[in-house]
Parts: sequence; C-alpha cells; structure tokens
Amino acid sequence: MPRVLAVGSANVDFTIRLDRLPMEGETVSGGEFYMDFGGKGANQAVAALRAGAEVALIARVGEDIWGKEVKAHLRDMGIDSSFVLEEQGSHTGCALILVDKKGRNLIGVAPGANRTLCPEHIREARDLFSWAQVLLIQLETPLEAVREALRMAKDKGLLTVLNPAPYSPLPKDVLALVDILTPNEGEARGLAHVPSEDLRVCLEQIRENGPKAVAVTMGAEGVIVLDEAGLTQYPGFKVEAIDTTGCGDAFNGALACALAEGLSLREAVSYGNAAGALAATKRGAQRSMPQREEILRFMKIQASR
Ligand code: ADP
Repeated sequence: MPRVLAVGSANVDFTIRLDRLPMEGETVSGGEFYMDFGGKGANQAVAALRAGAEVALIARVGEDIWGKEVKAHLRDMGIDSSFVLEEQGSHTGCALILVDKKGRNLIGVAPGANRTLCPEHIREARDLFSWAQVLLIQLETPLEAVREALRMAKDKGLLTVLNPAPYSPLPKDVLALVDILTPNEGEARGLAHVPSEDLRVCLEQIRENGPKAVAVTMGAEGVIVLDEAGLTQYPGFKVEAIDTTGCGDAFNGALACALAEGLSLREAVSYGNAAGALAATKRGAQRSMPQREEILRFMKIQASR
C-alpha cells in the first residue's frame, strides 16, 4: 500500500448556523451548533487515507479535551497518530465560525498548539521518514518545522509535496527542497518574485527557485501544471458543486497517495482533480473527502463520456 507522511495542523472547528450574522456587539440566538475536525494537516491526511494510502501524521494538539478528541478521531479512522502529541500549556487549534443561511460567514482562528510544532518534534519522528514514500506538508505550522521536515524527507529520498497554504512568502532554500508545489491561483501569483498578469510567467519564476513541478489548483477550472515537459491543463470535472470547502485538501491528499503508488505526475494530478471535484459535491471538509472506489468509478464514467 502507498505510504504518505503528512505534517501539519490539526484543529477543531466550532460552527453555529444562524438565520443572520450578528452585528458588532449584538447577540443572535436560535442557531444550530455543530463541531468538525479540521486543520489542513489533518484534512489532507484524511484525504490521502480515503484515496487509498496508509498515512501517518505529525502534529501538535493541546493539553485539553479537544486534543484527546482529535487524537481519538484520527486513530479511529486508521491514521498513525503516534506523533500527534499534546503540548503542555497549549490549547488545541480551533476555529469559531458563524454562518448564515446564504453561506456568509465570520471566522476567527486560534492556532494554539499548531504554533508549537518545531524542528525537534520533526526529528523525534525520524522513523516515519524511513517508512513513507511521500511527504505532504502545508504552511499552518511554523516555517522552521516545515523546512526541517522537507530537509529530512529529501535526505531519505522521499518525494515532497508542499501545499503553500495559507499564503506566506517562501525562502529559496525551502522551495529548493520541494518536488511538487501545489498553490491555488492566488498563492501562485503571490509566490512569483516579479508579479505578472501571465500565470505561466509566474509559474516559470517559481520553478526557477527549485520545485520540479508547480500544480496550480484553479477551482472549477481544474488544474494547471508546469513541469519540465511544459504547461499542461487538466480541465475541471463537471459536477454540481454545493460546498467547495476542503477541495484543495482533497486534491493534495489524493495527489500524494497516487504519487506514493508510483503513478506519473500526469496520472496523479488527474486523480487529485477527480477527488477535488467529488469533495465539492458534499458539505464539510474532512467528511467530504472521497473514497478510492468513488474516485476510480467517477474517473471511469467521465472517461467514457
Ligand atoms: P483551494 O480550496 O485550495 O483554493 P481550489 O478551489 O482550487 O483549491 O480546489 C482544488 C481542486 O478541487 C481544483 O483544482 C479542482 O480539481 C477541484 N474543484 C474545486 N472546486 C471545483 C468545482 N466547482 N468543480 C470541479 N472541481 C472543483
């Protein structure tokens, strides 16, 4: 089975759905509450697992009931969470979300323990780097931890996938450790050192700094890849999208799984593109990540059209 090591954030999201959003200083009652597990690291770990990989996650949670819930949830799903550890004196990363009937929202995030992930924590999990075939990482944890994970992954000959979200400028030495960079369009434009209207020019600039391939997710329009073969477009699959939360995470998890299986970048991007499209057809983030059989069936039906 393909083996993916995910490194990143693990959060809990608390949402209240209201008829309308409160104004400053106002209380609106009568809402419905629900709780969800989130964080890009955990979301992408779940996406890779559902897409067919064995997955281990390195993350930090707080010394609170939510940290225990996150760990139990990951374990129950079958993710190796031996390095999802509680950080003393920290709370579990969380988001407080208010959403109205039309989907408009107000969101506050407290990263908590995610901020404490450091190079030492990554080194403690060195055995996972000997086990995995692909490293999958994002930017919701400190850059020093990201750099160390990429460095150790390259030392062990892993393929590295960096999803540069949320956007942050990246030093050249970090980009040089990346095999496949997976920004969305806004992140790709931000990472180009001389901004250009022409997306291809932005991608060429990014590649000059190290990544072998840049795969830009374009929402309903699919994915655009620049690698040594040039620019390739993967049109988006036509689906009835009801909630695009988590689509980027679905794409990254499925891409990493396919790469760990030894598929070509072209095949892996198509697989990720299908997973992203399917995630758009369901509500939520982790709960909308498609299963391997679903992705394969969907791709077969699409190919026969
Ligand atoms: P992010 O959420 O990180 O900005 P995108 O919105 O680009 O990422 O979505 C990631 C991927 O999910 C896209 O590249 C595409 O493969 C798929 N996707 C997202 N929205 C849709 C949609 N409405 N229809 C089809 N595929 C979609």
